[in-house]
Parts: sequence; structure tokens; C-alpha cells
Amino acid sequence: MSAKIIDGKAIAAQVNDETAAEVAALIAQRNLQPGLAVVLIGENPASQVYVGMKVKKCAELGIYSEKVVLPKDATMAEVLALIERLNHDPKIHGILVQSPPPPQIDEEKIIEAISPAKDVDCFHALNVGKMLTGRRDGFFPCTPYGVMVMLERSGVDPAGKHAVILGRSNIVGKPMMALLVQKGKGADATVTVIHSRTKNIAEYTRQADILIAAIGKPEFVTADMIKPGAVVIDVGINRVEDPASGKGYKLVGDVKYGEVAAKAAMISPVPGGVGPMTIAMLMQNTVKACKMISASRMG
Ligand code: NAP
Repeated sequence: MSAKIIDGKAIAAQVNDETAAEVAALIAQRNLQPGLAVVLIGENPASQVYVGMKVKKCAELGIYSEKVVLPKDATMAEVLALIERLNHDPKIHGILVQSPPPPQIDEEKIIEAISPAKDVDCFHALNVGKMLTGRRDGFFPCTPYGVMVMLERSGVDPAGKHAVILGRSNIVGKPMMALLVQKGKGADATVTVIHSRTKNIAEYTRQADILIAAIGKPEFVTADMIKPGAVVIDVGINRVEDPASGKGYKLVGDVKYGEVAAKAAMISPVPGGVGPMTIAMLMQNTVKACKMISASRMG
């Protein structure tokens, strides 16, 4: 068996086309342009790349964006003052602070300072609570939301399936669990969550109809850990040394792609899998925020 590839890049391109059409209609019919502010504190090279990708995608889709760069020694008071300004800026509907911030910045406090209406990452406790209770008037966190859309558009219905998630972070593993276990269309899975204290991990992963790997350990999931015919989604992005490549490194996922692809029914690659979906869903969330803020102003 050779797995069908779940092409995140292609699915993200579809979602982005839909977003661009929605943005064009909002501008043409209501003179309303969604806007995203991306805040970068310091000069972490990986963060700079991610911020650059987000700003570029906004431009491609017609979304207004502001990149705000603060020095690496910025104080909490400075960051909070910036968030306060963006919370009140009518051009801005989504605010995100690129992670990780420098050590003097309390990320939790910054997240709580972002207006929940503009919390397009869905990190604010209010939006996390809305997601957990199945409400639709908040946001879904971009990476797990992207995985849900990948499954849906690949014809994978999680209902009644055993989904096993490797990782329990607040940005991937836990919200992934919340979305998959939700009652209703596109969800209804039975979910197991695995973390660093889980014993006999392979015993669980071998039961997975849908396996989602998000632990940040290169090629951790091997063929002997999966059930034949499983659907495997690889969220991991890991840099490993590769003297053969010009950059000296390559990106691999948390799944040993070749051997797992030979046993699975479907698999998402790295790169070109969940990564592009995450940005596509951020753009969707920004449009949603714009529409909700505009509706609340009119109401
Ligand atoms: P994280 O915050 O470091 O969390 C990792 C999780 O994996 C933790 O729950 C940890 O358990 C668990 N874990 C670590 N080693 C393990 C092991 N040997 N066995 C079982 N569980 C283990 O990471 P994250 O932010 O969720 O990201 C996970 C991966 O996804 C990373 O590679 C990251 O780069 C990638 N990522 C990709 C995207 C994308 O857009 N594609 C977005 C976000 C993240 P404990 O809780 O017990 O410590």
C-alpha cells in the first residue's frame, strides 16, 4: 500500500482563493477591508520568517497588514501599550504576537491583553472556552483548525473513529482534542491524547484510525507504531542537519515519512502539509474577526 498524500499546500491554496474572494466582496460591497497586525519582539530569525510569510499572505489576499517590530529589550509596559493601541485601531481586526517573545515578556499577560474580538490565534482564555464548549462566535486556533479542514477536504470523516494525538500543547494538542471530540459534523471522534508521561505510546498509536503527531521530535513515529490504513497528519516541523542541502539543514516532521507512507492510507507531508494550512486559517480568522467586529458596531 502507498498512502494518498494529503496535499496541504493545494488545500491551503483553495482556502486562500476563497478568502481572497471574500475579502474582495467585503471591500466592494461594504467598503470593509480586514486588517491584521503582526507584532514581533526581537530578532529571532525563525520568527522573522514566520512574520514575513504572514504579511506576504495578507498582501496576496487583499488583507491590510501592519508589521510592528519592537526591540528585543522592549518592556512589558511598551508591549501592553502597543496592544492597547491596536485593540482600538479600527483598521485592525486581528492581532497576533509572534511566539516566542523574549524572556522579560510574560506571554500569558500579553495574550490576555489582546481584545478577544481580535484574538485571531485563539489563545485568549475566553476564545479557548468558546471553542471547548462548541460555540461558533469565537475562533479556532489556526493549526488544529487547519488539520480539521485538511481532513474534511480529503474526505476523512472523524465520526466514530479513534483519533490519537501526540502532544498536549495549548496551541496544538489540546485544541486538536477539543475540535475532534466536539459533537457534530466533521468531528465526533473518540480521542486519546499522548504526552511525555504516557507509557507504552505505541500501544495507543497502533489503535489510531487518525494519528496526529505534534511533539516536535524528528521522525518519532515509525511504521511499526501505526495501524495499516491509518490517516496520518504530521504537524511537526523540525530542522535536522543535512550537509547535502545548500542551507546545511532540512525540515522533517514528527513522522518517518517514507516507511509510514508505505503503510498508511493517507499522510500529510512536511513541508507542504499542515504549515500552509496554518497561515490559510489565520487569514480566514482575520476575515471572520472583521465581519464580527463590523456586525457588533452596527448592532
Ligand atoms: P510543544 O509546546 O513543545 O509541545 C510538545 C508536546 O509533545 C508536549 O505536550 C510534550 O509533552 C509532548 N512530547 C514531547 N516529547 C514527547 C515524547 N517523546 N513522547 C510523547 N510526547 C512528547 O510543541 P508544539 O508547539 O505543540 O509543537 C509541536 C510540533 O509542531 C513542533 O515541531 C512545532 O514546530 C510544530 N508546529 C507546527 C505548526 C505548523 O503550522 N505546521 C504549528 C505549530 C507547531 P509534555 O506536555 O508532557 O511536555
